[in-house]
Amino acid sequence: MTVPADHIVDEFRAALDHNAVLTGGDADPFLFDPRNLRTADDAVVVRPADTAGVAATVRICATHNVAIVPQGGNTGLSFGTESPTDRPSIVLSLARLNQIESVDPDRSTITAQAGVTIEAVQNAAKAVNRVFAPDWGARGTASIGGGIATDAGGNNVVRYGNMRDNVMGIEAVLADGTIWDGRRALVKDSSGYDLKHLFIGGEGTLGIVTSAVLKLRPATPYETSLLAAITGLDALAPLLDLAQQHAPGTVTAFELMPLVAIDRVVNVFDVVKPLDADTEYFALVKLASSNPIDGQIAAFLEAGAEASLIVDAAVAGTPEQEANLWAIRDHIPPTSAYIEHQHHGLKLDTAVPVDKVKEFVQSVLDAAAKIAPMALAYGFGHVGDGNLHMMILPITDEAVEPWLEVRDAITTEIDRRVFELDGTLSAEHGVGLLLRDRIGPQKPDIEWEMMRTVKRALDPQNLFNPGKLIPLVG
Ligand SMILES: Cc1cc2nc3c(=O)[nH]c(=O)nc-3n(C[C@H](O)[C@H](O)[C@H](O)COP(=O)(O)OP(=O)(O)OC[C@H]3O[C@@H](n4cnc5c(N)ncnc54)[C@H](O)[C@@H]3O)c2cc1C
Repeated sequence: MTVPADHIVDEFRAALDHNAVLTGGDADPFLFDPRNLRTADDAVVVRPADTAGVAATVRICATHNVAIVPQGGNTGLSFGTESPTDRPSIVLSLARLNQIESVDPDRSTITAQAGVTIEAVQNAAKAVNRVFAPDWGARGTASIGGGIATDAGGNNVVRYGNMRDNVMGIEAVLADGTIWDGRRALVKDSSGYDLKHLFIGGEGTLGIVTSAVLKLRPATPYETSLLAAITGLDALAPLLDLAQQHAPGTVTAFELMPLVAIDRVVNVFDVVKPLDADTEYFALVKLASSNPIDGQIAAFLEAGAEASLIVDAAVAGTPEQEANLWAIRDHIPPTSAYIEHQHHGLKLDTAVPVDKVKEFVQSVLDAAAKIAPMALAYGFGHVGDGNLHMMILPITDEAVEPWLEVRDAITTEIDRRVFELDGTLSAEHGVGLLLRDRIGPQKPDIEWEMMRTVKRALDPQNLFNPGKLIPLVG
């Protein structure tokens, strides 16, 4: 029995408004992740409309020892919203906590409830001539709470950092239903442990984030993206360096896109190929500033060509061209570009120190060629911060069976190479269930043990997202 007994469901209904509890088929829309995989066979979804409702829900769960799986937009890619199969649980959806509580241009902050989407916060910031920097493909559905819980990254980390760097304070509901209001907006505060950081990247294992004070940045009305055909992976580091030299402080995104993935996206989606160059790799670079930057862009491209790093480049000259470049980037993940084939594939969210990116990409491609030659291997992503999404996918029906035979071997081999390069298996998507049993060797046992100690202290009943994130053994 994994759904709570009827009398407990009745308690949720009594404590909350009539829209708040969904069962049976009504719960179904909440039980599919972005790959269309089910996160539970059956579930009770509880959707409070405010923080007090979340606290009431947690109290009922604590009384009856019912586990709680928090859910925002359900766009996470690490199986963080799977329901446990060995004990009764609920899905606690934060989607109805969807209010922007205040916009404070003088402080450069926005306070938003957990269920507000990333895009809604971006738009609210724009309306007061500011920027909310976190941005990624699922922006229209992914929530502030989910972004905080996974310490999401995305396209702009090279300039503005991860979610962690864009959150000033949070409100959270703790395991006994206490509401902790830590929504401070202090730029400096050295008054002890900064407890919000336990919840940022905590994947809902320590409490439910219900609201947050988010940092805004000055507006950058001059924004231009360009796609550069580059001479190879060796060109990446010097090119980023040239961009920083010629357009200091403006490099907002620096993404790697391989030709094979661009061609696929151009074939499948309504986008235009911006360049005819047939180099193996392209860099998508976004520069943004409060002042005109055309001269800096020209100087950067000239220097890149002179140094034989760039073969050709297309600079977006209109909002449509800008949107086209980013539509290509947004469609490159296999959840979009190879939706019908991505199911069996290996999709990595690795990061390595920035000086080891080339070595890492080449190393994965070599391992794939050796162990899984039947599969398509490519890497794309946030190369400016060392976070490469390497993909190894069987993209024909015939490739699936032989691929499944080597899948474990290639996974183990790549994980080993990531650890050898002092990298991480989880750069921005979290650990969830996907990586929980693989990530152990990445850190010394004492580090996992400290995490277990924190978990036991803050959630003694193991109510919050049990089984996620922390390796079970060790
Ligand atoms: C097309 C696509 C592109 C993506 N690109 C990126 C990218 O570039 N960078 C990136 O970082 N991610 C990316 N993602 C992954 C995903 O969007 C992020 O992980 C996002 O942060 C998840 O937000 P969510 O609201 O959907 O959270 P969910 O998927 O609902 O939940 C994610 C985790 O957070 C927990 N959680 C959710 N809300 C709360 C809360 N209020 N309190 C406590 N715990 C909570 C859940 O239990 C789960 O463990 C992408 C996903 C897709 C589908």
